[in-house]
Amino acid sequence: MPIKRILIVDDDPDILNVVMASLRSKDVEFSTASDGVEAVEKVFVEIPDLVILDVMMPKMNGYQVCRLLKNDRNTWQIPVIMLTVKAKDKDKLYAMSVGADHYIVKPFHASELKTKVAELLARPRRQEKSCPIENYQGASETGILSRVNALLDRKLQEMTFLQYMTRTMISTFDETSILDTALQGLMTDLGYHRVAIYMQEDDGNMRVRGSAGFPKQAYGQPFRLDDDEALATLMSRREPVLLDGGGVILRTDGKPDDYKGERQQCVIPLAARQEIRGLLLIERREGESPISEERVGVLQTLAVQMALALDNAAMYKGTLMLSMTDGLTGLYNSRYLYTKIEEEMVRARRYGHPLTLFMLDLDHFKDYNDEYGHLSGDDALRTIARVLRKNSRETDTVARYGGEEFSVILPETDIEKAATLAERIRAAVEAELMDPGEGRPKTHITVSIGVASMTEYVRKPEELVRMADSALYDAKAGGRNRVCRY
Ligand code: GH3
Ligand code: MG
Ligand code: MG
Repeated sequence: MPIKRILIVDDDPDILNVVMASLRSKDVEFSTASDGVEAVEKVFVEIPDLVILDVMMPKMNGYQVCRLLKNDRNTWQIPVIMLTVKAKDKDKLYAMSVGADHYIVKPFHASELKTKVAELLARPRRQEKSCPIENYQGASETGILSRVNALLDRKLQEMTFLQYMTRTMISTFDETSILDTALQGLMTDLGYHRVAIYMQEDDGNMRVRGSAGFPKQAYGQPFRLDDDEALATLMSRREPVLLDGGGVILRTDGKPDDYKGERQQCVIPLAARQEIRGLLLIERREGESPISEERVGVLQTLAVQMALALDNAAMYKGTLMLSMTDGLTGLYNSRYLYTKIEEEMVRARRYGHPLTLFMLDLDHFKDYNDEYGHLSGDDALRTIARVLRKNSRETDTVARYGGEEFSVILPETDIEKAATLAERIRAAVEAELMDPGEGRPKTHITVSIGVASMTEYVRKPEELVRMADSALYDAKAGGRNRVCRY
């Protein structure tokens, strides 16, 4: 077995001795450093097999050293054990976030250290060990410090970016704006040229909701996540996955810095409340640098914020819909109806367009209920709602006013035209076969409709409703199953 070299870094000579004593064997050889800068210099020159790193040291602390080593393609593979008196959970978390492979609190048990060292030394390397760099400029003290600065700068930029993105995304409940913000940020700030965001729709298909930079239609096809079992499994773990561009999974946990292929993709789940709601796909273009592990971390944080913002937007939309609609028929409710009439009145007045309103009431509906029961009555109300929807135009607003009364707002429609439409609806309802269920013969329901158009004297929605109601009264009085104008 080849001799393994371990670099021990600590500003306390006693600790250096204790560590060496507990690890001494014929298979290892030690070198030591007593501050952070010396540590980095030695790692760059000696390329040891393992580093044991103190945290609090002069010149550069252990976190900075670790981050620097873990961000350099010549040294990232070297396992680092942090050895420190800092014992709080957050210290440990921080150590792991800068890339340390293990964390041991002082005073430590020699056996724990020994076991961990043996384990990390035995870990297979994915890459050939790099050659020691002899006249590598980065190993001078100023070189090292400027690299630390550059790294800090990048971190700061990333944090600013993430903060900005989060703030912008949560400032809106509009899904499209959230997706746009994310797309823009990924392209402009992070410099990716090929980005696609998929959202899962009600039918379970993932569909592209926003994309940029891909050749036309390349990713336009909807797909189901469970079609790709391997990908689905990884996504369900909420982990970013790196692909080789042809769908082959490169790896999920490792460092992609050595990826040499032309394309490389990173797929990140957008998950909220235990569910995958979508996917974020980033593709590296030929000539761009590989998507590094640190970048994957940034992308993942972004994805988490995005998923939260999208979830909030969906909830808001859901609540909004609930507050506007009627549970039985799915039509708008009367609260929404009044808001909408008001809005349309303002528009009609401004542009000098006509505006008409229908009030509909089912004829003898009490009898229908008495004969067939309330549940069949409810079915009939749903059927009528469907007939109304089918027979009105895209721009019309159909609402359930309450009970067995319905309303339709017809913008840009004068009373003549509206009366024709009302007649069409009346006939359609009359023609519809109602199924009272339980094998009873199908039957018919009729409606009476009152039609009223806005005039210059009508100021409030209530007035227009009252006019249509009055016409409806005439229709009832005139024998029902008919249309009357105000
Ligand atoms: P008219 O032709 O004069 O309108 O007679 P009508 O029987 O329809 O009029 P009335 O206002 O006396 O009765 C309305 C009926 O509508 C009474 C009520 O049981 C029924 N109704 C109202 N809301 C609902 C509902 O949500 N479900 C069911 N099944 N019936 C409802
Ligand atoms: Mg009624
Ligand atoms: Mg009625």
